[in-house]
Amino acid sequence: MACATLSIDLDAICANWRALDRLSSPDTQTAAVVKADGYGLGAPRVARALAQAGARRFFVALTEEGVALRQALGPGPQINVLSGHMAGDTDMVSDLDLTPMLNSLDQITRHFEALPDHPFGIQLDSGMNRLGIEAAEWEAVASLVLEAGPVLLMSHLACADTPEAPLNRAQLAEFHAMTDGTGVPRSLSATGGILLGRDYHFDLTRPGVGLYGGLPFAGAMRCVTLDLPVIQTRDVEAGEAVGYGMGWVAQHPTRVATVAAGYADGLHRALSNKVMLWAGDVPCPLIGRVSMDLITVDVGHLQEIPSSLSILNGQQGVDDLADAAGTIGYEVLTSLGPRYGRRYTGGRK
Ligand SMILES: *Cc1c(COP(=O)(O)O)cnc(C)c1O
Repeated sequence: MACATLSIDLDAICANWRALDRLSSPDTQTAAVVKADGYGLGAPRVARALAQAGARRFFVALTEEGVALRQALGPGPQINVLSGHMAGDTDMVSDLDLTPMLNSLDQITRHFEALPDHPFGIQLDSGMNRLGIEAAEWEAVASLVLEAGPVLLMSHLACADTPEAPLNRAQLAEFHAMTDGTGVPRSLSATGGILLGRDYHFDLTRPGVGLYGGLPFAGAMRCVTLDLPVIQTRDVEAGEAVGYGMGWVAQHPTRVATVAAGYADGLHRALSNKVMLWAGDVPCPLIGRVSMDLITVDVGHLQEIPSSLSILNGQQGVDDLADAAGTIGYEVLTSLGPRYGRRYTGGRK
């Protein structure tokens, strides 16, 4: 079998959720963001484990993701939809008891007309200019909206991973100006905002990437291991080239292993010649170009060729791969492809 194995440690994800929860005061609730299939790790399994660990509120990007999540979680936990109430969403919102975060006057109108008694939240734009109602619009509709009893007023920080960015304080001030005195529960912070300190926590935080072991939560536990089966090995002589475009040329005789995963599995082509794979604790350089389904690795220094080599493990995490590929851990996680066999550990007491 040439199917690579992505192992997901649900206990580590729950430990990260608890660690982030401990960073805010006991009055602040900690939700869990499981959009994009739980950042690529499997929203149903991740969310069920987090619900067992005590998470009562979840965020997804799309209503369709909310439907799948409700089916996994059953009734009870609140499922918030960040993209709000779009045309065609009404039946799903109502039948699956989803809570849309309304982002515009259009969405507010749609929701109030279609589901006047159904819970909703409001997303405000405090300076990111991506999603949410702007200050002037909010001023015009706030009293009407507040009368309808939103369950949450939220906004999102554009620079939370850069504590010294002046925009953080500016967004905090804008969010206060838009929401002080409303008496409605408030939420401003994702993982980065939690790390900015208690001023940013309000009533509810919304961590995503930190749960999955990614920066900016440097204290996170790693929660994924990715093992790639060795399909074949060969000896190469000095001067022989390996892979597409002769991407690597042997300087001395060595042994090359070909392993089963490539850029179609989310291992970016930009990793070519840049990172290590691991035989237990022994690093083995990725050599040549990453191709669609295959990676080549220099294993000339190994006494014995193992049946698989790992590319994500205790030594090398998603942010290490991201650095090498010139991207962020979020993109590495959410790119992890559908071909891996996903194996879950932990998560049940
Ligand atoms: C994705 C997202 C989050 C979670 O962000 P992380 O940086 O992954 O913690 C929280 N809130 C909103 C609005 C988001 O889009």
